[in-house]
Amino acid sequence: QQPPKRRFLGRGDIEVSFEFFPPKNQAMEETLWRAIRRLEPLRPKYVSVTYGAGGSTRERTHATVARILSETTLIPAAHLTCVNATKEEVDEIIRDYWDLGVRNLVALRGDPPEGVGERYVPTPGGYENAAALVAGIKSIAPFVTSVACYPEKHPESPSVEADIDMLKAKVDAGADGAITQFFFDNEVYFRYLDRVRAAGIDIPIIPGLIPINNFKQAASFAKRSGASVPDWVERRFEGLEEDSETRHLVAAAVAAEQVLGLVDQGITSFHFYTLNRADLVYATCHLLGLRPAKAFSQKADEASEPAKIAKVAS
Ligand code: FAD
Repeated sequence: QQPPKRRFLGRGDIEVSFEFFPPKNQAMEETLWRAIRRLEPLRPKYVSVTYGAGGSTRERTHATVARILSETTLIPAAHLTCVNATKEEVDEIIRDYWDLGVRNLVALRGDPPEGVGERYVPTPGGYENAAALVAGIKSIAPFVTSVACYPEKHPESPSVEADIDMLKAKVDAGADGAITQFFFDNEVYFRYLDRVRAAGIDIPIIPGLIPINNFKQAASFAKRSGASVPDWVERRFEGLEEDSETRHLVAAAVAAEQVLGLVDQGITSFHFYTLNRADLVYATCHLLGLRPAKAFSQKADEASEPAKIAKVAS
């Protein structure tokens, strides 16, 4: 079989979104904002901000979303979970976001406060799962609402079929799009896409991609979330634990291989789990043909204008 002819795509062909997590302290806040400022000129469709496990970052998620809304040109999407909150409490958060001007949400059930792997028990008086939360959101305001989906099935799910039934319930409740759990083998995504479409689900299923900055960390995330790590990915990072320079170059090559493999098969929308770091994501977006918007380079030129004049005058 001939490999598909590689095309060069660019703005207008490709759509990206970036996911960040709310910072815990001042140093993390600075790291996050460096990443946001670096990625902003690529004009993502939206940027999303996660909600901490057990609903632990309610205020920090809100504060980050509010700052993105007021200080950047970006469209924020707030993640929201059902954990540790009654319907009334969640509904209040939803209304607050609408009043603030937020129009995009990512609706999730969340994990048990005791941690992933424990049995999930809905909070008494709370939303029981993501489908119920989507219905609740849509009954309050017409947010563009994304949900999660799992190409290798959710760890609690007895089968891929049962998992796809849950996705169907989220779509029936009004979900506008789904973001996948990350995966490393594109075949996993395409197989899943076939099954989702065969089940009559027609919303966008956006691949969620995690550039591997740190293989050990990525493997541990994968273990917790039921995503498999193919041997060949592991082998690529073998022996590079102490060699950050080579690891970084290999990481860029691995990310490029995955994303261009998806493009070759006609995929044009991507969601990046940035882990609040911009470099690999920025490079991958560059390969996707995305370039900083003119307005930003003009702004940068304007900002350096006085410096240039001062240089000429001296
Ligand atoms: P649901 O869709 O409600 O359920 C997940 C699975 O559980 C189903 O697919 C099904 O297998 C099973 N299940 C649930 N209810 C039933 C039922 N009634 N009958 C049978 N099976 C059932 N977590 C956070 O805490 N904060 C975040 O910001 C966050 N962001 C995420 C973003 C993305 C893109 C992804 C993929 C995950 C994210 N998560 C986040 C993790 C997520 O909360 C967990 O994976 C959680 O365990 C399931 O959430 P869900 O919304 O997929 O749940």
